[in-house]
Amino acid sequence: QDNMSSDIALIGLAVMGQNLILNMNDHGFTVTAFNRTVSKVDDFLAKEAKGTNVVGAQTVEEMVKSLKTPRRVMMLVMAGKPVDAFIEQVLPFLEKGDIIIDGGNSHFPDTQRRYEYLQTKGIRFMGCGVSGGEEGARYGPSMMPGGDPEAWPHMKEILQSISAKSDGEACCDWVGEGGAGHFVKMVHNGIEYGDMQLICEAYQQMKEVLGMSCKEMAEVFREWNKGVLDSYLMEITADILAYEDTDGTALVEKIRDTAGQKGTGKWTGIAALDMGIPLTLIGESVFARCISALKDERVIASKKLSGPTPSFKGDKQQFLNNLRDALYGSKIISYAQGFMLLREAAAQYKWNLNYGSIALMWRGGCIIRSVFLGDIKKAYEKNPDLTNLLLDDFFNKAIQDSQEGMRQAVIEGVKAGIPTPCFSTALAFYDSYRAERLPANLLQAQRDYFGAHTYELLEKPGSFQHTNWTGRG
Ligand code: NAP
Repeated sequence: QDNMSSDIALIGLAVMGQNLILNMNDHGFTVTAFNRTVSKVDDFLAKEAKGTNVVGAQTVEEMVKSLKTPRRVMMLVMAGKPVDAFIEQVLPFLEKGDIIIDGGNSHFPDTQRRYEYLQTKGIRFMGCGVSGGEEGARYGPSMMPGGDPEAWPHMKEILQSISAKSDGEACCDWVGEGGAGHFVKMVHNGIEYGDMQLICEAYQQMKEVLGMSCKEMAEVFREWNKGVLDSYLMEITADILAYEDTDGTALVEKIRDTAGQKGTGKWTGIAALDMGIPLTLIGESVFARCISALKDERVIASKKLSGPTPSFKGDKQQFLNNLRDALYGSKIISYAQGFMLLREAAAQYKWNLNYGSIALMWRGGCIIRSVFLGDIKKAYEKNPDLTNLLLDDFFNKAIQDSQEGMRQAVIEGVKAGIPTPCFSTALAFYDSYRAERLPANLLQAQRDYFGAHTYELLEKPGSFQHTNWTGRG
């Protein structure tokens, strides 16, 4: 077909692509569907897209010819080489000013590279993070578009109309140039790792210190989900804990305790190490998955390495309140760290990031959606140049109110021999960040001792000196 009537083409008819097409169709856009394995196009038109305005294409050329100009071609294909491969396939059919959008989970340096490459061809490239899984894609995902600013006015209407809404505002707005959209999506995924691990640490303490049943724990999470912790991950955790297998016992307890990962948390940690940002909570959450994956080793070690036996005699309700506060306080620390990383990336890549708008994009549609993100949005609206979320009045008070709970949860974990990597690192970060003095004076002396790396005196910042530490005394 060569009628130039479609608004956009979408390539990649796996679950995300199919659902985004149906979502676009619901919002009145005409979509041309295409897939590498072309038989899936006909299957899709005959089944999921039956009765819609979606049109199919059998070749890349046919797909491109069906589009209005400037042409908009969006990819939802497997991240990595397939994205480059498809770009090369479609390029010969495009004209200057046409737009390619990558909606997959691409690594941000790849997006930056593709943006620069396609600029030389006169093609406007966008990398758009999409979160919310299949359900989000179908009914309103969180979307984090970046890339070529000239493409945005042509994509804004489509993306904002299909995205999730929070208080009537689209959870999708322009993020920044080059790889900015995928960078923000990556940090979102890292934060998701942290949020999930924090919930798991609370669960383990309830289960092993208090000896609570899954049903009881489900109730606690449901209760917590009514307050400041109100979030999608709380809600699904309560559902999961309440879910009974056919034999009437909790299914979750039958699941092998080894966590998988696709690598976006790892990327976030690596970016933080590269940029020198203490993104400790997300880092610990990635390592927590790594140690969980050593199941066979852990089974052997559990028989050889001893530790305390959890026993609890205190006030159960108080313990639960502490855990709730630990969860909230640690979550604040995690987001504070995440936004520190975003700030540093903005400085290094010269992105003009709008942190309030990023919080709004995460407020709805995605896995980390929560009421809490509304408070973050407010904090950055009040002061767009806020150096750290912890210094905002609302979060300063929130962390004051929750820090005793954070300390108690870590203490109980240590006493019972139950790991709390993320609770602990949140507290360590808090106590480091608020410390006027850290022991790095000794560390600098050590570096100077063995490597003549020199040090500064508190009294004379900016001037460096070396001491021959063995020469005297
Ligand atoms: P997927 O399993 O990641 O990818 C499958 C799709 O990629 C199929 O359409 C496949 O075509 C196509 N593909 C693979 N290699 C290709 C190549 N060399 N050239 C052209 N097409 C190729 O599908 P998905 O789960 O729907 O995810 C799509 C993207 O969205 C991914 O980047 C993913 O990370 C991201 N994402 C997924 C989720 C989620 O919840 N699943 C959430 C957010 C973001 P064939 O049919 O021909 O194999």
